Amino acid sequence: MRLILFGAPGVGKGVQGNLLKEKYNIPKISTGDILRDNIKNDTPEGKEAKEYMNSGKLVPDSLINSIVEKRLRNEDCKNGFILDGYPRTVPQAEFLIEVSNKMDRGIEKVISIEVEKDLIVKRLSSRRVCLSCGEVYNMLTDPPPENGVCRTCGEKKIIQRDDDKPETIEKRFEVYNKDTHPLKEFYNNKGLLVEVDGSGDINEIHKNIISLIE
Ligand SMILES: [Zn+2]
Repeated sequence: MRLILFGAPGVGKGVQGNLLKEKYNIPKISTGDILRDNIKNDTPEGKEAKEYMNSGKLVPDSLINSIVEKRLRNEDCKNGFILDGYPRTVPQAEFLIEVSNKMDRGIEKVISIEVEKDLIVKRLSSRRVCLSCGEVYNMLTDPPPENGVCRTCGEKKIIQRDDDKPETIEKRFEVYNKDTHPLKEFYNNKGLLVEVDGSGDINEIHKNIISLIE
């Protein structure tokens, strides 16, 4: 099962990716995670990425591509993988098609999770995270304890990330619409795209995804 999870910021790609990862016992690969791993392990790519990030620049496509390519060559991807948050641009998608086919690990399905923008904004702006351990809360569905102490690590560092503030959400949407949304047509033209309604219950959505890919 070689999958891409696709959709606007906040549609629930991460959550669905984790459920698929457990169901099929294949790795979920997000560029954020592998970038952090490379930086932590001080690989040549990690060093290069760190230089861009430290100077406030975006990590270029070429570097992201080579990090993803290496990751996909790993033994643990032999039975499949789930990409979350990559590719983000048409050039990245073209690169991925080429290298994944070359290593006989071509993409089988692109799952586009569809949610109305208003609902996404509501979901994202109600998200809170623990700075200390990364635990995620939601003011609507899963609020943090009233005393502000994290249920997982016991620290008192639960905050709203800048990424989840309304003005930043708006900017993330602009970038998504400009750079990433065109990928939908790209994958549709290749016959890889399936769409799933991402507005309801998490487990219901998971079941719908499975019925679309099996
Ligand atoms: Zn915590």
